Amino acid sequence: MENVTAPFRSFALVSRERIARNYRRIREVVGPGVEVAGVVKADAYGHGAAEVSSILEAEGAHWLAVSSVEEGVTLRQAGVRARILVMAGFLPYEGEAVVEHELTPALQSLAAVAEMDRLARRAGKPLPYHLKIDSGMGRMGAREGAGEVAAAVCGAAHARLEGLMSHLASAADFASPQTAEQIARFDHLCRALAEAGIAPPYRHTASTNAVAYGRENAWHNMVRAGLGIYGYVPAARGAAPPRMLTVEPALAWKARIIAVKDLPEGAPVGYGATFRAPRPMRMAIVAAGYADGVFHSLGNRGSVIAAGQTTPIVGSVCMDVIAIDISHTTALGPGDEVTLLGEEGGVKLDAEDLARATGTISYDILCRIGRRVARVYA
Ligand SMILES: *Cc1c(COP(=O)(O)O)cnc(C)c1O
Repeated sequence: MENVTAPFRSFALVSRERIARNYRRIREVVGPGVEVAGVVKADAYGHGAAEVSSILEAEGAHWLAVSSVEEGVTLRQAGVRARILVMAGFLPYEGEAVVEHELTPALQSLAAVAEMDRLARRAGKPLPYHLKIDSGMGRMGAREGAGEVAAAVCGAAHARLEGLMSHLASAADFASPQTAEQIARFDHLCRALAEAGIAPPYRHTASTNAVAYGRENAWHNMVRAGLGIYGYVPAARGAAPPRMLTVEPALAWKARIIAVKDLPEGAPVGYGATFRAPRPMRMAIVAAGYADGVFHSLGNRGSVIAAGQTTPIVGSVCMDVIAIDISHTTALGPGDEVTLLGEEGGVKLDAEDLARATGTISYDILCRIGRRVARVYA
């Protein structure tokens, strides 16, 4: 371990085994009749999309999902062979890349279905697409009824409808009727389309929450799992059933100490002197700042794990460094690691903890780990 991480001041250790195991657990929960598309958008939530994709492919994944055409092209260039669903569709100028890299767009409107038809006609092959239905989230997807959808799909004879999908806005909220309403609307549309002879092979509405909390009627025959693969399930609201999914965080984030110094009582620390040593204090400067994804709002509020203990961040978070109070130990010096995210000496700090401390969600914490932080795979 020391060897692979030695040159890096700040690095994220990603466990291949945990990614693979989390993915297998999701597959076990939904069972063999349900395809699990591994969501690797946003550089696999900061874990490295090419690496995570290759882990999932080695586990037998048939489908991966990204947000944009650019992300899909990047995966193809990294050698990914699995089907790639582009969940936010394509823009007119991205059509050629869709064809060339064999990406499967999730179309967001009936106008896009017509565009897809033109693309397929030009390409001279029946390009597959999935159609996103806005079943009540009020974000992306077609809102039209079955008649109009059927007309658009049938009018696009050169392209091939391969999946109907929707996205749930509140799947972890068991105090809200929204999920049941969304699923009912989606199922109603699927039935009406089936009666019109339109029954594509895939139907999918579930992401991690609907899998983890056992909303089986959202699974259909494909689920799109992102966060769960990385080892997190957001907390539920309301009278949630027990979780069906057990996963473990796949990423630990470390940074090295650059300098240690002893401060006298009353000494100010950092920009704006937002902290003053309340007593003689030993401080360490750690090589990670907001440019690396340490939220600025963690100044004087967040903590890291140093020498196996929860250790407060003192003063404001700088672009490249933070200061921490290591008065509890003399064991740490320049080059030693502290843990920004992960476990050390039985103490745990995960993305949910950081999200609570910063008023955000675990997704946000993971996605913002900066490009400067080396990803190291073990
Ligand atoms: C990001 C995304 C997912 C994955 O969601 P998780 O909560 O990370 O499992 C699934 N579907 C769509 C449309 C998404 O944008």
